Amino acid sequence: MGTKIISVSTNRKKYTTKKQRAQSILVRLKRLYPDATCSLTYASPVQLLVATILSAQCTDERVNKVTPELFRQFPDAESLANASIEELESLVRSTGFYRNKAKNIKAACQMIVKEFGGKVPQTMEELLRLPGVARKTANVVMAHGFGINAGVTVDTHVNRLSQRLGLTNHEDAVRIERDLMKLLPQPDWENWSIRLIYHGRAVCKARNPACEECELADLCPTAPKISPQNANVDVISGAVR
Ligand code: SF4
Repeated sequence: MGTKIISVSTNRKKYTTKKQRAQSILVRLKRLYPDATCSLTYASPVQLLVATILSAQCTDERVNKVTPELFRQFPDAESLANASIEELESLVRSTGFYRNKAKNIKAACQMIVKEFGGKVPQTMEELLRLPGVARKTANVVMAHGFGINAGVTVDTHVNRLSQRLGLTNHEDAVRIERDLMKLLPQPDWENWSIRLIYHGRAVCKARNPACEECELADLCPTAPKISPQNANVDVISGAVR
């Protein structure tokens, strides 16, 4: 099988730093997805926390089908903490990994009731103590539950696109987050993730990214990588020459 030849824009601006390029990508993403927002349905920080735990290895669409009944029966931390594991498992089964998710939801809500007066804590340090909560979930809750940009949410789309866009050399989510935090203004940390997720779903899919129709192609080192005629990008460093 030969190399796939695609046509992407050769109208490349000169960027002296990766930071400048990241910020140009951010501007472009804002234009492309002006109304991007968290696609999970929730009515309180604890419901957001639960929906985010359920979204691991699952689509937001699927989570949104499950949570109305879950939250109708168990709307707050106290009721979720007191729910039986069997009830929770049966309600969240279709999101996958349901045993683990049910166990973590119950245990996290028990800790919220016992140690935080029934309210989801508002610091990264405290959130990370909750069972089943790693930085990705904590960042989502901080940003969308409390309006605090504590970090950059790195899900599977942000992970893949940040690498393809040449903004990180890492594959590990924590290191990718650290790289992105250095490149982007703090007020934009969360909206960056949301918009990159939109772009990952619509254009830069895991298999067969649609580089030929991608509006980030002139800022992306991966498009020329599979399009030899656009050899003005250093695909190793990610610098656009
Ligand atoms: S040019 Fe291709 S690899 Fe780069 S962001 Fe767009 S779709 Fe993804």
